[in-house]
Amino acid sequence: MQTQTLQIAYQIYPSLEALPDADRTLLEQARRALENSYSPYSHFKVGAAVRFANGEMLGGANYENAAYPMCICAEQAVLAAAASRFPGEPITAIAITVQNPHKPVAAPAAPCGACRQVISETEQRNLCPMRVILQGETGPVFVFEKGSDLLPLSFGGDFLG
Ligand SMILES: [Zn+2]
Repeated sequence: MQTQTLQIAYQIYPSLEALPDADRTLLEQARRALENSYSPYSHFKVGAAVRFANGEMLGGANYENAAYPMCICAEQAVLAAAASRFPGEPITAIAITVQNPHKPVAAPAAPCGACRQVISETEQRNLCPMRVILQGETGPVFVFEKGSDLLPLSFGGDFLG
């Protein structure tokens, strides 16, 4: 029997203003995208924005439905849109932010498990690590060098080949 330990390193910035310019710009884009959230049921707004290798940015927001399983997370909304808008263009970073009208979110909200899977597969598909930038409505910002850091031992297409 062996014991394996996994370690994940990430950076913590005290605020949006403390981020490097490119990360701050992308997080601001995610904040603007959040305003387009369609969340009449949860009232929990999520905004995400991606940066492509060509420098372009694209935002997306969560998109709910009265039939709850049909709700689309902001991360998946923007990644699907990205694949249509710039097919084949690698995505180098994704910024995610949230807003809860019932209580201020002062800690970074991490992507759900399904979104981690989609982020991880997008990295594999594009052969490009995706920087992940997370912030609540206020407070510190967490930065991961790649999405797969958030999903160790992930399932992937290799299992199906
Ligand atoms: Zn999600």
